[in-house]
Amino acid sequence: RAKQLGRNTYQWYSQEFNDEASYRVALRNELQDAIDQEQLSVYYQPLVDARTGQIRNVEALVRWQHPTRGLISPGDFVPLAEETGQIIALGEWVLRKACRDMVHLHSRGFRHCSISVNVSPIQLRKEGFTQTVINALKASGLPPESLELEVVESAILLDTDLVINVLHAIRELGVHIAIDDFGTGFSSLSYIKLLPANKIKIDRSFIKDVIENRSDAAITQGVISMAHHLGLEVVAEGVETEAHATYLRKNHCDLLQGFVFARPMPFDELLTFLNEQASANTPASAGEGDS
Ligand code: C2E
Ligand code: MG
Ligand code: MG
Ligand code: MG
Repeated sequence: RAKQLGRNTYQWYSQEFNDEASYRVALRNELQDAIDQEQLSVYYQPLVDARTGQIRNVEALVRWQHPTRGLISPGDFVPLAEETGQIIALGEWVLRKACRDMVHLHSRGFRHCSISVNVSPIQLRKEGFTQTVINALKASGLPPESLELEVVESAILLDTDLVINVLHAIRELGVHIAIDDFGTGFSSLSYIKLLPANKIKIDRSFIKDVIENRSDAAITQGVISMAHHLGLEVVAEGVETEAHATYLRKNHCDLLQGFVFARPMPFDELLTFLNEQASANTPASAGEGDS
């Protein structure tokens, strides 16, 4: 098609633009159906304790199983939902679902496992967000200490005081706060002092080449050191190889998340995965050496 229109590139570009724009308009309308008709689901990705290998936490990641377009990634529809405000309903749905699933997980014996839920800056700035969190905890019966909210650093660029107050109120409930995608937000380091966080997640763009790239290595080591001096735990995102994992363990990273351990998966697969991990770590097989 591009070749056919090759002589008239203007038409081609504008056609492509129209396709993109109408795709977004269509998606926007269909997203409402998705929220109403349960086309959304929550996948879970385990985070591994760098020292013990235990799974201490899982991250909830929303998925959209579209009836005709197939599986749509949150990278495509979360920004759209933020533009339209649909992120409020979507985010609350994910939060409630994740809390319920985690209670289920606890009842299966995995009580040491906590759940991390991504929260959009739009949600944080929406009046009543703290109450939304309280309601989700109450409705599910999940202990506040088992819930963590992931917030990107740019969340405090708008309505800074309001957002910081909300995060403090959430911390007071006993809920944990993680700073997500750390290092990509173009914000000043001084906000770290203001954010009541427990944890920093180093963005995967720094981890990708951490072994061969001296700048990425310096940044990663620097962030780990800074976080520890501030009393925060550190997660490395996007751990894709065993070499990454070894490097990060050596450099005292606390938690590892990435495809080398597990991809995001539906809840029933998570249960199976955790059961397999648990039986691999029982005393019966512990004598075979800790790899
Ligand atoms: P995020 O919060 O930084 O989540 C981590 C993303 O990295 C996930 O992408 C995950 O699948 C991916 N990932 C994990 N390990 C690896 C790895 O080893 N290599 C690579 N290349 N990628 C890895 P996903 O699920 O597509 O989500 C993308 C983003 O969408 C999330 O980034 C988050 O910002 C947003 N998102 C997802 N679910 C929600 C939600 O329920 N609410 C909101 N507000 N945002 C969400
Ligand atoms: Mg996240
Ligand atoms: Mg992230
Ligand atoms: Mg990200």
